[in-house]
Amino acid sequence: MGIVVENVSKKFGSFQAVDRVSLEIESGSLVALLGPSGSGKSTLLRLIAGLEMPDSGKIWLTGKDATQQSVQERNIGFVFQHYALFKHMSVRENIAFGLDIRKTGKAKVKSRVNELLELVQLTGLGDRYPSQLSGGQRQRVALARALAVQPQVLLLDEPFGALDAKVRKDLRAWLRRLHDEVHVTTVFVTHDQEEAMEVSDELVVMNKGKVEQIGTPAQIYDHPATAFVMSFIGPVN
Ligand code: ADP
Ligand code: MG
Repeated sequence: MGIVVENVSKKFGSFQAVDRVSLEIESGSLVALLGPSGSGKSTLLRLIAGLEMPDSGKIWLTGKDATQQSVQERNIGFVFQHYALFKHMSVRENIAFGLDIRKTGKAKVKSRVNELLELVQLTGLGDRYPSQLSGGQRQRVALARALAVQPQVLLLDEPFGALDAKVRKDLRAWLRRLHDEVHVTTVFVTHDQEEAMEVSDELVVMNKGKVEQIGTPAQIYDHPATAFVMSFIGPVN
């Protein structure tokens, strides 16, 4: 079992950011949370990560009640839109960060970092510093860092949002290939319909804190369940 969200709600003051959301994410799949700005995507992701606690409802991660687990116990990899790499650390040191704080042996860290550099196609750039990398390369370092500790779940909050259109397009295809290799259960937040359609096995369409529809890209495109989904997903005009 991957991730199960059961009737989860979250308010900020009187504002209902997440409203009775239920969904199941199959282990090993890549699911996109798609919706306009303010629809509750990031809040839902933060609830899954344990960075926010739900007002009501339950979250299960691989069969365990996550609301009883600390952020560390949830063992989640997180990448944000503006992921701050440590500027004073090399690419290698950035990727090794989570391993070092877990007191992993030196030789093991080195081989794992080499493996990850290859996985994110940055072999040869390990000794550079973040300022010497392009935006797309930096996000790939952030992904390698998140994957280093072999998380049970990978959460990506608009990871390519700050990059230009061409780079974003390349990274989409790259993320898909990476996922096919690594198979870690991944939730990918985006407000870009095309990105969600291209990258994901399944889509969760959100609006005003609620789930409007869940399905494969084809199901949602061919049979939008609500007027909102139709207008949001429909042919780009
Ligand atoms: P999305 O990621 O879909 O753009 P968010 O989950 O970030 O949406 O936010 C939904 C709404 O919840 C936003 O309009 C925001 O104002 C509100 N919100 C999110 N986080 C907080 C917070 N920590 N405190 C107060 N309001 C918040
Ligand atoms: Mg957001």
